[in-house]
Amino acid sequence: MVDYINIFMSRLQARNSGETEFHQAVQEVVESLSLVLDRHPEYRSAKILERMVEPERIIIFRVPWMDDQGEIQINRGFRVEMNSAIGPYKGGLRFHPSVNLGILKFLAFEQVFKNSLTTLPMGGAKGGSDFDPKGKSNNEVMRFCQSFMTELFRHIGPDTDVPAGDIGVGGREIGYLFGQYKRLRNEFNGVLTGKGLNWGGSLIRPEATGYGCVYFAAEMLATRNQRMEGKVCLVSGSGNVSQYTIEKILQLGGKVVTVSDSDGYIYDEEGIDAKKLDFIMDLKNVKRGRIKFYAEKYRNAVYTPVDRSKDYNPLWDHKADCAFPSATQNEINAKDARNLLKNGVYVVGEGANMPTHLEGLRLFLDARILYAPGKAANAGGVAVSGLEMCQNSMRMPWTKQEVDERLGIIMKDIHATCVECADRFGTPGNYVNGANIGGFLKVADAMMDQGLV
Ligand code: NAP
Repeated sequence: MVDYINIFMSRLQARNSGETEFHQAVQEVVESLSLVLDRHPEYRSAKILERMVEPERIIIFRVPWMDDQGEIQINRGFRVEMNSAIGPYKGGLRFHPSVNLGILKFLAFEQVFKNSLTTLPMGGAKGGSDFDPKGKSNNEVMRFCQSFMTELFRHIGPDTDVPAGDIGVGGREIGYLFGQYKRLRNEFNGVLTGKGLNWGGSLIRPEATGYGCVYFAAEMLATRNQRMEGKVCLVSGSGNVSQYTIEKILQLGGKVVTVSDSDGYIYDEEGIDAKKLDFIMDLKNVKRGRIKFYAEKYRNAVYTPVDRSKDYNPLWDHKADCAFPSATQNEINAKDARNLLKNGVYVVGEGANMPTHLEGLRLFLDARILYAPGKAANAGGVAVSGLEMCQNSMRMPWTKQEVDERLGIIMKDIHATCVECADRFGTPGNYVNGANIGGFLKVADAMMDQGLV
């Protein structure tokens, strides 16, 4: 099996050269799946894995738009439609200058497993652009979104491909994208999720990823007869996922001492309470300001700017019980992972996608901490997107309580699937194997049923 994995990975790397994040995401999955392929040679002979790493379709397009100075700007748009074995393609759009094909392929690949874990019928996709909404006026963001959708609209649809938000794509961007889709198609339907409440959005969708991640952490703690109450937590990022992760930790009686953005991080020893969280939400969602202003408002908090000469992130070097990386990929390297373990962290819930390097992941697994990989821990967002699709199809909105209860049940089910699959394949307590195997089996069986397509 080691030979199979090595040959598989070297072929993948040669065929997708330079796409390092994609290689990393596949490597992690293949290591887990070797346990399955050993017992199920039929998947190997049907080349299920070989097919799963090849996107069903990739669309790359030019996005021209005009800035407020009247100058023409050109960005690149992408949609990676990875796998539709169990439902229409589904996955977010990311607008960030770092976006490239390798990053979107890693995200789309992970999305396939994540969506399968939610128990809802959704295939996997991801898309976006190297456009940076930061520092742009609302009008510039609108013109960009309209141009982006002017190409994307012909590839998506409520039964084909249903994009949502991700980094740099929140309620404002989804609104502009939906408006242009509707204008071009002359159809009002559930083609995007994360919509505004007045026009087809679901209650709890903005909260879902963060809430779901904390529900998952609480489930892991329950396996050791513990609760979130009193736990000291490190959270990175200050966007959608971070904000609602903090809100749910506070509701469950935990204490959050860090928050960050790409310029630096805040350490607030007294804890970020509900009032301070309101300040963060206003700062980030309305004023679109930088996190350093938190330390100007709350004088006891310490702001540390990012120091790129350091080989570790000091945010992860504080005493705590839990860590919720919620910013971006590869934000925890091996040194950060060692610092977390040294500081007593024994619960890691990945709100972000693939925030931990492979070496860090191995350290967490060796230390046998409660480590929830992103494809399980942050699946609450896409799960509620799936519930938004249901409500759109029925043309019937559910109450906040109803959606939150369903989210809670889905996160419990995902947790149970991870535990059961990890046990069944001889690695109890290993949520990485549990999530990869649980997500894989459903998609693989559907692909077997549907023949060579
Ligand atoms: P968001 O609202 O745009 O917030 C992203 C946060 O991360 C911001 O604080 C941002 O800081 C920071 N960040 C982004 N890129 C960074 C970088 N290269 N280095 C350091 N900090 C960086 O995005 P989000 O929706 O919360 O997404 C955060 C993570 O969760 C991503 O990995 C995303 O794929 C994952 N996720 C999101 C959802 C969802 O429903 N939104 C669902 C599942 C997974 P700046 O403002 O300075 O850029």
